[in-house]
Amino acid sequence: MRVRAQIGMVLNLDKCIGCHTCSVTCKNVWTTRDGVEYAWFNNVETKPGTGYPTDWENQDKWKGGWERTKAGKLQPRQGSKWRILSNLFANPDLPEIDDYYEPFDFDHDHLKSAPEMEAFPTARPYSKITGERIEKIEKGPNWEEILGGEFSKRSADYNFEGVQKEIYGEYENTFMMYLPRLCEHCLNPACAASCPSGAIYKREEDGIVLIDQEKCRGWRMCVSGCPYKKVYYNWSTGKSEKCTLCYPRIESGNPTVCSETCVGRIRYLGVMLYDADKIEEAASVERTTDLYDAQLDVFLDPNDPVVIETARADGIPEDWIKGAQESPIWKMAMEWKVAFPLHPEYRTLPMVWYIPPLSPIQNAAEAGKIGTENAMPNVRDLRIPVKYLANMLTAGDEAPVVTALERMLAMRAYMRTKTIEGVRDEAIAARVGLSGRVIEDMYKI
Ligand code: SF4
Ligand code: SF4
Repeated sequence: MRVRAQIGMVLNLDKCIGCHTCSVTCKNVWTTRDGVEYAWFNNVETKPGTGYPTDWENQDKWKGGWERTKAGKLQPRQGSKWRILSNLFANPDLPEIDDYYEPFDFDHDHLKSAPEMEAFPTARPYSKITGERIEKIEKGPNWEEILGGEFSKRSADYNFEGVQKEIYGEYENTFMMYLPRLCEHCLNPACAASCPSGAIYKREEDGIVLIDQEKCRGWRMCVSGCPYKKVYYNWSTGKSEKCTLCYPRIESGNPTVCSETCVGRIRYLGVMLYDADKIEEAASVERTTDLYDAQLDVFLDPNDPVVIETARADGIPEDWIKGAQESPIWKMAMEWKVAFPLHPEYRTLPMVWYIPPLSPIQNAAEAGKIGTENAMPNVRDLRIPVKYLANMLTAGDEAPVVTALERMLAMRAYMRTKTIEGVRDEAIAARVGLSGRVIEDMYKI
């Protein structure tokens, strides 16, 4: 066993209101410079949808991430490997500016300088690249929020093995949710594996994945290699850039900008201890539906005396061990099993996890499926289909998602009974295999 510490993040999607404050504050701090106008280290997508860059989840198109060979060994997906060997001058699987969006601003000066006219002057959009007026804005980092229907149906064609098409197709079955996204600071980062210059590294002390700007030669293999499409090429400097998990803030004991400014208070940061010797094995398991379980296996119990002793021997500082013991990430991912990795089938072992949303729960309430008589509705009655969430969070394995949703529903029912009737109803907690005390802990976090 080799113990390593990693900072992880859990986002409770049940609380995200899609306000984009996280994206805007991140952008103001990190990507207002020339060459990265189009880049959003953090963006919030409306799902189902094609996302940003468009179609990023279509791995057949971009050929990013890892794959397992017949012999069971892990390798960058064939597309990336082929490119590195035979085509260093072009990278055919790179997203282009149109896959993101052409950065634009509004002609605010016109509001002040326009001559007197009958109607109020309009600040029209113009391209920040060419300076020319844009007649029609075709897409952007949160485009589906406005054009949900058409774009969502398109994404249904390839993302979810036809399942979503079936469940999404009819108007009365439509649903939506928000998915804030940032670099996953993966335990097995495909960006680092695909970099020919060795410029991308994972910090030993906290697992943050960074790009050494001195070493980067602008090959952009990381852009195509990252299955989450969270590396961006700066056309001004000729180097690639990505989310740094606000490491200067983390080093001084502060949360990331996106966490600190999150309006819904949905983001939790915490330390996890993991066994570095298990990474390759976990990423190479045969069945994709086993990948979520395999990732759970690499995490180490921070209260286990053997783990603590090995962690000390491996140089993990005492306050990090303590941090891991008190980590909300450990509790949500491992103890309560309510948080999941995003697309574990990409085999990078991502470290930004998500609590699936129940919303809009109002639906179930109005249909009489939730209330004091029926405090615990069936998760299948919720509007967002379990299959859809499982395809996103557990490579299609529905059982863990059902357990998580039931626990979240039980928490609401238990706390409602406690607050309204003053009764701690242990039966509600027991139905989802928890105690009232644990449910109250969940509620506090
Ligand atoms: Fe690298 Fe981040 Fe992409 Fe993972 S999500 S492969 S760490 S850029
Ligand atoms: Fe969601 Fe928080 Fe971002 Fe608002 S700031 S969109 S609530 S993650």
